[in-house]
Amino acid sequence: MRIAEIYSSLQGEGRLTGVPSALVRTSGCNLRCWFCDTPFTSWRPEGEDQDVSEILSVVENLKTTPGPWLAKMPAGESATLQHVILTGGEPMLHAELIPLTEQFRQRGWHITIETSGTLYLPVICDLMSISPKLASSTPINAGAWTTRHERDRNEPAVIRRLLEEYDYQLKFVIDSETDCTDVENWLREFAPIPPDRVWLMPQGVEPGELAQRSAWLIPYCERQGFHFCPRKHIEWFGPGRGT
Ligand code: SF4
Repeated sequence: MRIAEIYSSLQGEGRLTGVPSALVRTSGCNLRCWFCDTPFTSWRPEGEDQDVSEILSVVENLKTTPGPWLAKMPAGESATLQHVILTGGEPMLHAELIPLTEQFRQRGWHITIETSGTLYLPVICDLMSISPKLASSTPINAGAWTTRHERDRNEPAVIRRLLEEYDYQLKFVIDSETDCTDVENWLREFAPIPPDRVWLMPQGVEPGELAQRSAWLIPYCERQGFHFCPRKHIEWFGPGRGT
């Protein structure tokens, strides 16, 4: 499968925030969110094909290659790499994800898959981290991609299957207060979903815009019983690649 980058860092979002993790970032996506923070996997996909054994070898080697994230570890916390995050792009585009997850399971890794929830594969996964794409994610004036994104961004049958078969968390990117209404409608469609499975993160990569949206999003999350998701990796390392 085409791989954009493999590296180690701390998980910056969701339930496992702060956990040392190996990240395998696949390249290629079936959607084109206008705010995509990894355009090198979607709008302008980069990377080379690597087979399962190559990916496993690179990830296993990360265990003995300390990264800059070590300096951010709280004193007394284990820095051992036991978690792997399969992310993208859209990792569920790649059928090789099935044998890859089997191999990670055999080697004892905790497996998180980060997906938009539009494609299904019978993978092995400890945490399905689903980031449904709201109407506000659709790119304007992007030719065929505007139509295609809007057509494919919501696949209810896939969402239901992922929610039934896996431990999950839901992460929504919030650009404006209108998106909060869309989240509430989305949750009603797939009810019952406990609010503590829901993480709302402000759209943006610059500290100023994140702070601006956080100012109203944090109290909204508190009222609804949702988690606010502050995108800690940007705070720790900035918006660059490989972090
Ligand atoms: S689904 Fe994710 S990787 Fe694909 S375009 Fe949207 S934000 Fe980017």
